Amino acid sequence: MTSLAVALLPSVAGRVAAEPVFAFDSTPGKLPKTVVPTHYALDLTPDLDKLSFAGSEVVDIEVTEPTAHLVLNAVDMTIDAAAVDDEAGPEITLDAAAQTVTLAFPRPITAGRHKLRLSFTGRINRFGRGLFVVDYPTAEGRKRMISSHLEPADARRIFPSWDEPAFKASVALTVTVPQAFLAVSNMPVTQEESIGDGKKRVAFQPTPRMSSYLFVLAAGDLERTTADVGGITVGVVAARGKSVHGRYALDAAGGLLRYFNDYFGVAYPLPKLDLIAVPGGFGGAMENWGGITFFESRLLFDPATSASDARRGIFSIIAHEMAHQWFGDLVTMAWWDNIWLNEGFASWMQAKAAEALHPEWQTWLNGNGFKQAAMSEDARRTTHPIQQPIANETEAMAAFDSITYAKGQALIRMVENYLGEDAFRAGIRAYMRQHAYSNTTTADLWGALQAASGKPVAAVASAYTEQGGIPLVVAQASCAGDAQRIAIRQERFTIHDPAPQPQRWQVPVARGDVAGTSSETLLLDGVAEIAAGRCGDPVTLNVGDVGYYRVQYDAAMLAALTRSIDRLAPADRANLISDTWALIEAGRYPLAAIFDLLDRSIGDDNRAVVEQIMRPLSRIDHLQWGRPERAAFQAYGRTVLRPLFDRIGWDAVPSEPIDHALLRSRLIGMLGNFGDDEIIAEAKRRFAVFVKDPASLSTELRGTVTSLVGRYADRATYDTLLALGRKTTNTDERVRYYMAAASARDPALAEETLAIALTDELPTSLVGALISQVASQGEHRDLAWSFVKANFAALAAKQGPSFQNNFPANLMTNFTDAAHAAELASFAPAQATSGGRLVAARSYERIMTDADFSAQQLPAVDEWVKRRMARP
Ligand SMILES: [Zn+2]
Repeated sequence: MTSLAVALLPSVAGRVAAEPVFAFDSTPGKLPKTVVPTHYALDLTPDLDKLSFAGSEVVDIEVTEPTAHLVLNAVDMTIDAAAVDDEAGPEITLDAAAQTVTLAFPRPITAGRHKLRLSFTGRINRFGRGLFVVDYPTAEGRKRMISSHLEPADARRIFPSWDEPAFKASVALTVTVPQAFLAVSNMPVTQEESIGDGKKRVAFQPTPRMSSYLFVLAAGDLERTTADVGGITVGVVAARGKSVHGRYALDAAGGLLRYFNDYFGVAYPLPKLDLIAVPGGFGGAMENWGGITFFESRLLFDPATSASDARRGIFSIIAHEMAHQWFGDLVTMAWWDNIWLNEGFASWMQAKAAEALHPEWQTWLNGNGFKQAAMSEDARRTTHPIQQPIANETEAMAAFDSITYAKGQALIRMVENYLGEDAFRAGIRAYMRQHAYSNTTTADLWGALQAASGKPVAAVASAYTEQGGIPLVVAQASCAGDAQRIAIRQERFTIHDPAPQPQRWQVPVARGDVAGTSSETLLLDGVAEIAAGRCGDPVTLNVGDVGYYRVQYDAAMLAALTRSIDRLAPADRANLISDTWALIEAGRYPLAAIFDLLDRSIGDDNRAVVEQIMRPLSRIDHLQWGRPERAAFQAYGRTVLRPLFDRIGWDAVPSEPIDHALLRSRLIGMLGNFGDDEIIAEAKRRFAVFVKDPASLSTELRGTVTSLVGRYADRATYDTLLALGRKTTNTDERVRYYMAAASARDPALAEETLAIALTDELPTSLVGALISQVASQGEHRDLAWSFVKANFAALAAKQGPSFQNNFPANLMTNFTDAAHAAELASFAPAQATSGGRLVAARSYERIMTDADFSAQQLPAVDEWVKRRMARP
């Protein structure tokens, strides 16, 4: 697509981004900026049995104004001794609510350099914050390892520190661990010495200047395999015996390192990069500098058990975390109000890198659902700007949401498209060079892109980062003779928010014909009119699905597009379906619009399109829980999906398109959940054979077959699933079997599953997933919610301080009625912190949106289904 720069209207051109560029002194945060750490020499001795650690540190500090008080962060620890230079014995005050420690000295500390010495004792958690243990099964029995997870603000649980991202300092770690352990941190080991009693001390090279949340320590009975990539040692670290499954990750990381070195124009700055597989504690991955941690099954690939397409997910998550080594670690947002700089960019780069290194995956096309997730949040009253004030740690945690990741990703994509690939990359390279080892705000990024491109990036982009919400382009066609003219204007697109604050954007509107060939971009500010071929020609206005906006066509334009959907490119078919469904949710299109599109899309075998066909089907099905009409709706859903499955079949054929394996398992899962008896019976048959002969079931189908069998499990099958889950040492399989068991329809089995959540059978990170899985089965949502309420104190103690802020609010979105929304609003633990209140308000809005949509639209759905199914 080519971009045409169009003159900006003065009102917009004159607007400047409100946010200033980075300046340390004016960066938000709670700690005084008059004392700055430059280096931590840190010594830790964890005790994995007592779940505690002893620590000491010498911190080089620079004092810019004389002060008798040092204020730094510490939480859940005791400070045993403190001194600055020779001045010992300050009064030590820990403030648990502020998560700080204040050292009050009898005399002011003079301006200049000093050494702060602290010794302290802290806690090792069972939940994934600070330093934590994971117990995991092995062939020789259960083993225990430690790992760490610090973002956004948990370095303060490991060492007293200036734990805000703008306070960058180097860290030199020494740790004492059992002799047999492998210890991994940000930097290479410089020295290991045995100290007797089965223990050793391991010292690491000092890191460069970095933000405290990027520190990492992992240690256990681990092994490491490495490869040299242009002088950098890339390693995969995993539990002993499992690093062989890290081969794919190691290869992928090598290719990505070369790609990023080139793209960013600044070589990877550390001597090594480890990818560390942790079998529990947290669910995703964390970009600690030089030592990225991953939930084990997100990193390891076992050809005997993993579906071959699991490689795509592994590649993507490695690409995301490796992009952070530059965008986040080398150059860091100054404060959490700009967390999107980290996450939006890394999310964009994971797709960019996948398109470059694996074009056959069609990552942008297949990632359409990610943008849809952000757009459904962003249409509601409780949305927020990408850049938003962040007052504390709980609010920072709440900011790790789809607006930050997926809207951020979509915005970067749109900006790259507007500037062109080369100018955009030149700007990113300059930004890296200019801000390495330092911090930035969004204004710094726009400044670099503007300088490189000569285009008014900030004026266009700040409307997307500094205000929430989605632009809606409303199109109205008219004829002048044989020529078609399209009048376009913009509004704000909302769902369930009838009187939103009006907003303005500059929207890069890209017009295309049915072949997706001719297109142009214009910046729409207010209204415009464009020529679009001959009268009645179908026209699409977000061609390629690149823009972050929705389009509302007039009835004749929509009808023309619907009639010719099979002639549109896949990205435009997927986008037309998703826009149409969203406009129905917004009350702007009649319900029939989506059903007409679905009917015309039966048999479409593009995976991205099928995903968008499934979205309204799944959502209406979810709203149908407990209604007698659900069976008829599911029968209709089967008529939409079954013809494609009949063509694709159960077993792969050699010549099929590469996406068919994923499509096949999605269709089996969806049809099974929609009550397709034939599919359910065949899944059961295949699973029974698999139990006796695992090789009989292809790795591609294991996930979906196991999950279906779990859903329709009787007692014996349930027991088999749990037995398999308890036996395996493979984390991927373990999750698969437990989650399948947790899907069982039988209420007695669901109760048994919930009981497991109170034991130590699973790591804490999987306990939450287990309960959520039970709750996501509509018939058990009340059971799961009652269980959570009845056991709240026990669960919260086990799951850690984030549990109350997120878990109840997320669980409640399984409900679609006003009474449960009200219950959430008055559930005290969910309302206890400001971050928790944000999450709860979003869930409340979502439940109420579902409740009102159900009341308004389900009767019409029933009517439509009745007529549709009566058709011959
Ligand atoms: Zn990230």
